[in-house]
Amino acid sequence: MKKNKKKQIALQRVSNLIDTALYTQDFFSDDHILSAKKIIEKYKIKIPFEYKLLFCKNCKKFIVPGKNSRIRIGRSKIKALRITCKLCGHTYRKIIKAKAEIVT
Ligand SMILES: [Zn+2]
Repeated sequence: MKKNKKKQIALQRVSNLIDTALYTQDFFSDDHILSAKKIIEKYKIKIPFEYKLLFCKNCKKFIVPGKNSRIRIGRSKIKALRITCKLCGHTYRKIIKAKAEIVT
């Protein structure tokens, strides 16, 4: 099997696991996330942006917006999301648009 194909399958599995964890948000979520993380590391896959938002940069835990994280849109010129992890209190930014529009 080609490497890319393997990665594709791995990514599919990761998104399934994360989606399930998001839906259930229960006891088993951690297991799902743990398995997902293992797959990510093993295949060194790049996870989509929307999934990246679900992991705290500081404590690396799985955080669900509205549950254990807070997402706000930054008001600066650089369009960014401000994500606050309620588990460790860490706030970090995710830039949506690197280049600000020039307003004259
Ligand atoms: Zn955190």
